[in-house]
Amino acid sequence: MIFGPRIELKSPAELQLMDRAGQLTLRVLSAARSAAVPGATTAEVDAAAEAVIDAAGAQSNFKGYQGFPAVVCISVNEEIVHGIPGSKVLRTGDLVSIDGGAIVEGFHGDSAFTMIVGGDEAGTTADRDLSAATEAAMWAGIAAFATGMKVSDIGDAIDDYVTEAHPQLGLVEEFTGHGIGTAMHMAPDVLNYRARSNGPKIRPGMCLAIEPMLTNGSSETVTLSDDWTVVTADGSRASHWEHSVARHDGGVWVLTAEDGGASGLAPFGVTPVPPSAA
Ligand code: MG
Ligand code: MG
Repeated sequence: MIFGPRIELKSPAELQLMDRAGQLTLRVLSAARSAAVPGATTAEVDAAAEAVIDAAGAQSNFKGYQGFPAVVCISVNEEIVHGIPGSKVLRTGDLVSIDGGAIVEGFHGDSAFTMIVGGDEAGTTADRDLSAATEAAMWAGIAAFATGMKVSDIGDAIDDYVTEAHPQLGLVEEFTGHGIGTAMHMAPDVLNYRARSNGPKIRPGMCLAIEPMLTNGSSETVTLSDDWTVVTADGSRASHWEHSVARHDGGVWVLTAEDGGASGLAPFGVTPVPPSAA
């Protein structure tokens, strides 16, 4: 029998810190969203996000990660993940995924969302539908974490949702979600697709980043020569949504959501429960 790396289970006190890191991550991403207007550079969006981290006296978990130069990843149109902020100018109708996080007292948050620059009505129906499908796939995965027995239930739920509701979209398999806590990327890997192995059991104190990526075409990816930016092989547009989520004795809590995940989980009959400060 093969044992994977140890999975970090958080105490109630540690879950409080995870919650604080999650809430700061939410504010970081909100600032980035507000700054992502037509005519802004992606570097300006990054600066807005960094200002929130600095004002909180917190640290970035993205900047310096394997040499990454910014506090958020900004991936535009055919870029799926890991886009580097810089001189690129955002245009009305661009489909932009922003991924960011923060460290509070040693604990990490990690979250991502997709938006249309200039507002939803500025985008194409295909882009709106792609982002909505990716967000829905994420919530299906989070609901499976809430109700499931094994980490692999998450990938099964994401895969089933996409296969049933959006079979024409590409489900990216090369990148996965992950455990999160005293580091951003920890065991276990959280696959976004149905796999043969069952994966570890879901246990109280487990915190996972759940983050499906969908494309409007092929699921094949290419990494650009900057060694970071991942694009679709066929040039189709992509979307990425992510939340950090805690499972605890009382239920599940979406650490990086404004409402703990209440609205996203309602369609699944799941009511999130904040971790108690026991
Ligand atoms: Mg992320
Ligand atoms: Mg992540």
